[in-house]
Parts: sequence; structure tokens; C-alpha cells
Amino acid sequence: MLLDGLWHLTSTVAGDVWEPRRRFEAVCRGRGEERPAPCADHGCGVYARTHRLPATYVTTGPRAAVGLVALWGRVIEHEHGYRAQFAYPVALREPTLESERGPVRELAQRYGVALI
Ligand SMILES: [Zn+2]
Repeated sequence: MLLDGLWHLTSTVAGDVWEPRRRFEAVCRGRGEERPAPCADHGCGVYARTHRLPATYVTTGPRAAVGLVALWGRVIEHEHGYRAQFAYPVALREPTLESERGPVRELAQRYGVALI
């Protein structure tokens, strides 16, 4: 997402902005008050898959970035991945489309992560 002319990583579901060089903390807002995420009783938290997403999933949203993420704090394991309290990107996959490479390269530099 472009904010003030700069690319930012954001949640594809909640729309939360991940600030460069700062950990992202997921917060549960599921019961009218904020509390630490993830909860065992619903689906809050930062999601990460243990296996690569199908290409069709990645192309369904505009400007989707794909990569590796570090998770820590409270982490709940699921069949296909995890939900976590804290997260920060480790690496971003360089897109195959030339038109998408510029924004992802800018993101990698601003967030201090590798391009893979
Ligand atoms: Zn919750």
C-alpha cells in the first residue's frame, strides 16, 4: 500500500500497516476490548503458512507481496501454518512481473529485508 508516497506492508485481511524496522504486534479486537492476540477461541493474530501459496491465490489481490516472516510471542500452530502475536518480515520474494519489481525492491530496502 502507498502511504505518503512510500510503499508499506499491510495486512491483507485487517488492513493494519506494518511499519518499517518495527515489530508488528497483532491485537485482538474480537470482544469489544483489545487484548493480546492470538486467541484460542477465534481467528485473530498474524497468519503465516508453512508452505507456499498457490499462484492463483497470490494474484487475487492487488499488489500482494509474498515472503518469509519471523513470528514470536504467543504463537498457535495450525494444520497449514501459524497465528502469532509478533511478526516481522525476513525476506520478500522478487516478483516475476517487471511492473511489480520496483515496489517490492523499495519495500525490501525500507524494511531492511532480503529479496529472494
Ligand atoms: Zn482474538
